[in-house]
Amino acid sequence: MRDRVKDEVVALKLHVGNNIGYSTIHPVFVRKVVNAIKEGGGKPFVCDVDWDVSGAETRGYTAEVLGCPVLPVGGIGDKYYYAHKRPFKNIQEWKVAGLVQDATFMINFAHIKGHPSCGFGGVFKNIALGCMIGETRSTIHDTCHYEPYWFKDKCPDEATRKKLIQVCPHGAIVEDKNDPEELHLHIEQCNQCGRCLEVAPPGSLKIDAANFHVFQEACANSVDITLSTFEPGKITNLALATQMTPVCDCFGFTGMAVLPDAGIFGSDDIVALDQAVLDMTGRSKLIEENVPTFMEVHTREGHPFQVLHGPLKDPYLVLEYGEALGLGSRDYELIDILPVDEVEYAPMGYIPASAD
Ligand code: SF4
Repeated sequence: MRDRVKDEVVALKLHVGNNIGYSTIHPVFVRKVVNAIKEGGGKPFVCDVDWDVSGAETRGYTAEVLGCPVLPVGGIGDKYYYAHKRPFKNIQEWKVAGLVQDATFMINFAHIKGHPSCGFGGVFKNIALGCMIGETRSTIHDTCHYEPYWFKDKCPDEATRKKLIQVCPHGAIVEDKNDPEELHLHIEQCNQCGRCLEVAPPGSLKIDAANFHVFQEACANSVDITLSTFEPGKITNLALATQMTPVCDCFGFTGMAVLPDAGIFGSDDIVALDQAVLDMTGRSKLIEENVPTFMEVHTREGHPFQVLHGPLKDPYLVLEYGEALGLGSRDYELIDILPVDEVEYAPMGYIPASAD
């Protein structure tokens, strides 16, 4: 990294969390990356979306601690962006945050965790949502509603609609504010348990892959657009797979870890990196006793994050879309930088140094 950042303006993209969440990337790791950039002659700044940067100092992300400014990607007020046209479902224009596009180098440093929209948040998600301004982040989330899933003419009975809403234990189905015959499915809360389908009249409701997978396709497109604003070789990625919580750091709280720590990963290839992280974390079982009471496990098929968020939230999908867009390769070689059997033991005053 040091050899690559001389005279570069380096955006160090983190998710700095929200509220009292303390399981984001610890400032001690961020400071190490900032120091490395400075030693290499680069000019770093830490950045994230405006509503997370606001208050980031309460979680330890300050210029004093990290060694560089902490800035909102879209400027104060989230109004600074570059528009890129690429029609995709409900999205016409993608608004890349100004400070990201202005940077000449990016270090994409992600905390690995579960995510309610797609099962998993890694290096893809850190760019896909975190490098667009709020307006585009909203439209990315809205892609889930692009394909129709509720057909009100097939369920004219109000009592049945009320029962449908009540049968969902996760509050994922709600009535439209303006039209009581219209129902909305909150994809984030839905774990595809199927209870609602047992109540819904035939043809009235779909719990369908088209409404779930599209978010990941949108994320791959978003990453493609942001990466296209950098010269080749001017992006690298890091992932911290520790304290992996069930949902995104946006939620502003820290849950119990649902997977054992897996380490720190790095690669220039964004596809390979998330693939390696998923493969490594997928070797472990979901720690079911740590799953919050507002969630449930109703299947044990697939990656642990899929077990947590439901079968239609396959965390690998974004990598299939990303690979198809030419963003990298799902093939990789994992090189262990600090193999356990090569650890040097440091003597401590009251614990004798020993390799045994
Ligand atoms: S599938 Fe299950 S979680 Fe999803 S809306 Fe229906 S009842 Fe709710």
